[in-house]
Amino acid sequence: MSSVILETRNLTKEFKGFTAVNGVSLQVQRGHIHALIGPNGAGKTTCFNLLTKFLVPTSGQILFNGNDITAAKPAQIARMGVIRSFQISAVFPHLTVLQNVRIGLQRQLGTSFNFWQSERSLSQLNGRAMELLAEVDLTEFADTVTVDMPYGRKRALEIATTLAMEPELMLLDEPTQGMGHEDVHRVTELIKKVSVGRTILMVEHNMKVVSGICDKISVLQRGAMLAEGSYAEVSSNAQVMEAYMGS
Ligand code: ADP
Repeated sequence: MSSVILETRNLTKEFKGFTAVNGVSLQVQRGHIHALIGPNGAGKTTCFNLLTKFLVPTSGQILFNGNDITAAKPAQIARMGVIRSFQISAVFPHLTVLQNVRIGLQRQLGTSFNFWQSERSLSQLNGRAMELLAEVDLTEFADTVTVDMPYGRKRALEIATTLAMEPELMLLDEPTQGMGHEDVHRVTELIKKVSVGRTILMVEHNMKVVSGICDKISVLQRGAMLAEGSYAEVSSNAQVMEAYMGS
């Protein structure tokens, strides 16, 4: 199996003549935590939306495990194992944390979620759901109604429901957005923990998060690739520093 799990070739997205993503060629290595960073308006979100098929590229190609997925639909790539956390961050706020993870497991098993399903049949999933909650340190919240959980722990639930779907590639969209220092630290540690044996591509603003855990960083500016490399490499790149200072 190739070491490259996801690749883009000259990926381009234009909005009515404005080029938001401009010829981006990206390679994500299997087993890496790879970050997509850049100042506001750099094209990170557009790029993510292209990768997860929420947007159709104007030109260019996207390959997953060597297969061209440029024309695939979001549900198709999810079945292939490309799971975006925010897609399922629409967790059901009035269900418990455990019930939300069970929904992720049902999706993985291909059984659609049904509010009227008997608790007895659903409880067969409890064992695996509790394992996943333990993995993301949420055991104590299993029976908490999701809306009552502290904000900083909701990302951990999103990660658990993503893991329930057995992702080959996890896409995390600004996992520490809106969090205080302590929660940022907790989520950073969690990403490091769940990355073992998995591949993660994330959009992230917080340089501290990126510096601590990422194997590779791609820096976008005005839709194009400005620099790529380790944190040490990109953070010492004069053009990158200038791009960030100017933002
Ligand atoms: P980032 O996530 O790096 O902040 P975005 O991908 O959100 O950047 O945006 C990149 C550029 O594309 C911005 O200038 C933004 O205004 C523009 N853009 C994004 N989405 C659209 C859209 N649907 N229509 C027009 N312009 C858009």
